Amino acid sequence: MKAILPGATLGILGGGQLGRLLALDARRMGYKTGVLDPAPKGPAAQVCDFHIRAPINDAAAALKLAERCDALTLEWEIIPASLIDAVAQKKPVFPSAAVLSVIQDRLTQKQFLAKEGFPQARFFPAADAKELSDAVADIGYPSILKRRREGYDGKGQRRLESGQDLPAAQALLSAPCVLEEKIDFEREISVVLARNEKGDVAFFPVALNEHQGGILRLSSAPAPISETRAREAKDLAAAAARALGHVGVMAAEIFVAKGGALLINEIAPRVHNSGHYTLGACAVSQFEQHWRAGLGLPPAETALLSPVVMANLLGDLWANGAPNWEPLLQNPEARLFLYGKDAPKPGRKMGHFLLLGGDIESLRAAADRILREMGAPPRR
Ligand code: ADP
Ligand code: MG
Repeated sequence: MKAILPGATLGILGGGQLGRLLALDARRMGYKTGVLDPAPKGPAAQVCDFHIRAPINDAAAALKLAERCDALTLEWEIIPASLIDAVAQKKPVFPSAAVLSVIQDRLTQKQFLAKEGFPQARFFPAADAKELSDAVADIGYPSILKRRREGYDGKGQRRLESGQDLPAAQALLSAPCVLEEKIDFEREISVVLARNEKGDVAFFPVALNEHQGGILRLSSAPAPISETRAREAKDLAAAAARALGHVGVMAAEIFVAKGGALLINEIAPRVHNSGHYTLGACAVSQFEQHWRAGLGLPPAETALLSPVVMANLLGDLWANGAPNWEPLLQNPEARLFLYGKDAPKPGRKMGHFLLLGGDIESLRAAADRILREMGAPPRR
């Protein structure tokens, strides 16, 4: 592939915070940007050169975007693979329809990983009550029922601790689900990497991820794991990227089980919330890296410049109007990123901040303190 260079126009399918941060880095590098998004002035549309306003599954609108762009990417993997196929007839687009069609359905993703021999939690399809009870008979409790499609931030999931939770879980079965074993993990980590068409791979430092209610609250790097474990996690993620034939940034969410075994939770074929820390703490951000990998350039050096903690700012902080910014903005080591969303809702990601310098433990304590002073409930 001939590299696509600054001056070219880059298109983004989907206009949330990931699209915004992709667009901002593309602009900094001298590219023009366009976005397809249904909202009148969403996070990405605010910072792109142009905006086509239509649903992200509108194939005609996506083709219009493709007409005006030299290459395209997407910020969320739920876009129909057939739409990506149609776009690919006109302009380079990454990731490919083939990658999306494996990833966008939890069941096909897990089946793919199983076929390729990757370690993961045990799972069974659960399309209806009968399949669910068969799956429960095999996996037992605790387990987690997940919608196959369109889940994010823990949405479309139900934990099953005992048979008493079954009736409530049945409600999820209005769409096909998978049941998986609940892993009693020691910690959750992620590997964010970039892979280009030639197969060159570059890794960001492994991040430690702390969730609450299915939503990522804190990521920190470097993760408190041994070199060997980090290497093993990176090898797993790279092998998955290779097996998929993925191009661009990819994130592998990984459980470190008690005893140390690594299990892949899920793969995101795009920039990822747990890689936000790279914009500010690494020599290159995941957003620039995504463009480089997809545009036919070698991935850049990813060195971590400072220990870092990233904290998400959820809409809950806006419950009584604007949050108290003082504790964050008075801190010389804190960097604020807001996404330009005008409707804060509980659990909605409105922005994030980074804390740089020092050691991870004091950074995590400082992030908790700042969040508390801003009005967040204490972390469990
Ligand atoms: P989403 O697409 O919403 O990110 P995930 O499958 O990653 O969905 O689930 C969100 C979070 O729920 C995970 O990061 C983890 O904390 C928890 N979780 C999900 N699946 C399991 C599992 N099998 N065992 C233990 N915890 C899980
Ligand atoms: Mg996840």
